This record gives sequence, C-alpha cells and structure tokens, in this order.
Amino acid sequence: MKKLTASESLITINHFKNVLQSEGIACRIKNSILGGIAGEMPLDQVWPELWVINDLDYDRAKQLIDKAITDESPQEPWKCRKCGEENEGQFAACWKCGASA
Ligand SMILES: [Zn+2]
Repeated sequence: MKKLTASESLITINHFKNVLQSEGIACRIKNSILGGIAGEMPLDQVWPELWVINDLDYDRAKQLIDKAITDESPQEPWKCRKCGEENEGQFAACWKCGASA
C-alpha cells in the first residue's frame, strides 16, 4: 500500500479512484469517514486519502492523477484587465479586485 494523494474534497478523491479503477489499478480511500468530525482534528489528518493497493502501480497511478488534475483545471494563469494582477487559472474572478476573467 502506498499513499498517492490527499484532498479536502472526498468528491475529488472519489473521482481519482474512478479514474484509476477504469485503468485497472486497485486502490482504496482512507479517512473518508473522519471527514464528519473535521474541526476536532488538524485538517491534514482528516483529509480523505487515496492509496494504491499494489506499490508497483504507484508510478502509473500518479501519472493518471496528474493528468486528471490537469484535465480539471485546463485554464492558463491569466492577468486581470482591471488591476493587472496575475491570477491562477482555476479562479474565474480576480482574487484581488474581483473583476471577472
Ligand atoms: Zn484585478
């Protein structure tokens, strides 16, 4: 067993799990139940984690997840037209002044 990734969103972790399983990679989610008591523990301890069952699958699984992340956030960083601030691609509006992309 090897830990692949963790995310605050169980939906994201589930998505990755589906991606891996569709490629025939056995994996399991840890901490999916603990999410309900977030607030009582440090956040990074209750984030759902995705683990590969077989260590030999790790490299391929990692690549698939990296690709899945890229697929989900295809946007390039962009520059705000109003204030000129650089914004990460996943933000639809400027984090600084609120202007939309
Ligand atoms: Zn701006």
